[in-house]
Amino acid sequence: MTPEEFRRFGHQLIDWVADYRARIAGRPVMARTAPGEVQSQLPTAPPEQPEDFAAIFRDLEHVLVPGLLHWQHPHFFGYFPANAALASVLGDYLSTGLGVLGLSWQASPALTELEEVVTDWMRQLVGLSAGWSGVIQDTASTCTLVALLCARERTTGYSLSRGGLQAEAQPLVVYTSDQAHSSVEKAALLAGFGRANLRLIAHDEAYALRPAALEAAICQDIRDGRKPCAIVATAGTTICTAFDPIDAIAALARQYHLWLHVDAAMAGAAMILPECRSLWQGIEEADSLVFNAHKWPGAAFDCSLYYVRDPEHLIRVLSTNPSYLQSSADGRVKNLRDWGIPLGRRFRALKLWCLLRAEGVTNLQARLRRDLANAQWLAQQVSSTPLWRVLAPVRLQTVCVRHAPPGLQGQALDRHTLAWVERINRSGAAYLTPAILDGRWMVRVSIGAETTEREHVAALWERMRQEAEQAWPSQAD
Ligand SMILES: *Cc1c(COP(=O)(O)O)cnc(C)c1O
Repeated sequence: MTPEEFRRFGHQLIDWVADYRARIAGRPVMARTAPGEVQSQLPTAPPEQPEDFAAIFRDLEHVLVPGLLHWQHPHFFGYFPANAALASVLGDYLSTGLGVLGLSWQASPALTELEEVVTDWMRQLVGLSAGWSGVIQDTASTCTLVALLCARERTTGYSLSRGGLQAEAQPLVVYTSDQAHSSVEKAALLAGFGRANLRLIAHDEAYALRPAALEAAICQDIRDGRKPCAIVATAGTTICTAFDPIDAIAALARQYHLWLHVDAAMAGAAMILPECRSLWQGIEEADSLVFNAHKWPGAAFDCSLYYVRDPEHLIRVLSTNPSYLQSSADGRVKNLRDWGIPLGRRFRALKLWCLLRAEGVTNLQARLRRDLANAQWLAQQVSSTPLWRVLAPVRLQTVCVRHAPPGLQGQALDRHTLAWVERINRSGAAYLTPAILDGRWMVRVSIGAETTEREHVAALWERMRQEAEQAWPSQAD
């Protein structure tokens, strides 16, 4: 494709995306696609001859888009908000259009330096002290893996330069809550700790980790000849946005010399609002921290912010210095390949930079506050309606609910819950993701798509009542 062809099709493509966003509310939120349906409409072998770009557009419209769940839809209440604000989409296009890679500072100085600037802007926005240094990674999963690698190496005095974990005399142990995200378990397994050395600590009535249970587990492991290594605390759990008590956990981390990593993938962005910051009190005591600019704030996926207190330790664990990547600037600049796992680095800072400049802090804060208020409003409606319950404290924008008709318990209640959610999802009117809380299915309403206003939440609530309450009599017999 020549630059002139690119100009022509590029304009078409931008128009297409603009129309898609402008009219997204008219689409069913969830794809009604059967497994294999998309594949069956596509050739199994690549084209021998060049094809017209118009043909690609046709397939986009007729084959791909019907097979999508529309995450930017105002009636999207599933998983978590993954806003791709249009300003950040332009930044992402730009990154791809420039086609530069940040293998080292010299490989594209502006790429590295803009990343330093925007991660520092975000640090200030969430109220962290200047003692933190940030870098952009692909996902929170990767950040948590990096954190556990750093923890492992601090506890072992850099075992990687000797026999690695395999040569350690004592098994190293990682602690997290039983409400932690699955990426914590995955990171612990990939970092070589082994499932037998991962402790899932019990939660309290607000679904936060119990510090007393944590301390008991640490002491038991010490008595058993193991070496406590790291705690992963969660600020804003996936299922119900619970906040582990960071200050109490940090005190234990200090006392027993453990690394403290805070997974704030979803909720870290809430700290852009000063009134939310008490929720992660003690955060300055952590060693590492992740939150995703690609969830609620609106940087197009992927844009995960990883902050550390001790960048020299991070670099010592992750650096490589092959001859072909060395340059005379090395002593004076950051080489971000030493701050994460991949060597290659996209110009991800651009999408965050475009987002922050186009939206401004004031508008970003207003949007997050709108979502918090919508969640409170919904919680109020639910808890004041007979037979409906809010199941966990509504700390941010997620409301966990259940409709519990009298006499309906156990698996019958689960079937009722899953049935009414499934009816809503299938209808295309809204999209919700149920989850298990304390062994029983419930429905998470995750508010915060950029386009979601009060009227959309009100329409959802109306629909929830219809589907759950009308279905109930027929299920009673
Ligand atoms: C979303 C989420 C993750 C996973 O984020 P990725 O960036 O997709 O890896 C991890 N932890 C929490 C608490 C989350 O909300």
